[in-house]
Amino acid sequence: MAKRKILHYPDNRLRIVATPVINFNTELSTLIKDMFETMYAERGIGLAATQINEHIRVIVVDVSENADEKLHIVNPEIVEKKGRIESREGCLSVPQAIDFVERAEEIEVRGQDCNGRNISFSANGLLAICIQHEVDHLDGKLFVDYLSGLKRSRLKKKAAKLGLKESVAP
Ligand code: ZN
Repeated sequence: MAKRKILHYPDNRLRIVATPVINFNTELSTLIKDMFETMYAERGIGLAATQINEHIRVIVVDVSENADEKLHIVNPEIVEKKGRIESREGCLSVPQAIDFVERAEEIEVRGQDCNGRNISFSANGLLAICIQHEVDHLDGKLFVDYLSGLKRSRLKKKAAKLGLKESVAP
């Protein structure tokens, strides 16, 4: 297992749309382990493969208080959304921001586990918010995209001050 480097906004690689997982092999299991290790080390509650520069559709989540309820979803799909909820979000890839975003309150999720077995469940509250946030990452979307242009340009200035750049060598 290894802790991996997290990409930071406004890095363009966070905009790459991840491709579906086809091979459920040991490489995938290792990636999932690395993602959990990275997420826990950074005290996050969710991480998408995109954030560690792996552009395949995998997310890991743990919204429990004691960080002991691991959930990974391969090829996650949100097949139904119900209700609206205002959520206060942050992101390991955008450490300089916390803001309010509107999300669905309840979702139906489908996907697979690391062995390729189908899974489906419904989620609400923080778990639902977190899954929506992580699936957005797989589509190259960040929570700051939901904010106003003014807020985003302030963020970019902040990022520039921190030395974070928009375009980077692959
Ligand atoms: Zn995030």
